Amino acid sequence: MSAGDVVVRVDRGRCVGTGLCAATAPGDLALGADGRAEARRATSSAGDDLTEAAELCPVEAITLFSAADGRRLAP
Ligand code: SF4
Repeated sequence: MSAGDVVVRVDRGRCVGTGLCAATAPGDLALGADGRAEARRATSSAGDDLTEAAELCPVEAITLFSAADGRRLAP
């Protein structure tokens, strides 16, 4: 784990399946079989695309936390 690692949490009960996040950060987010978003891995590298995905979500279902100290990074 590096200092730039983030934990991506998706509130699947809140997700309305727009697919915006998966289109923005396809390496880290995907739509599951039920049409709702899910994280593709437990931790990801912090990056502009992931931050943008969290900020774009219309229902704020995606939250990024620092893997190092749990601090909320976005949105
Ligand atoms: S952008 Fe938000 S509402 Fe749309 S698929 Fe991703 S988590 Fe769900």
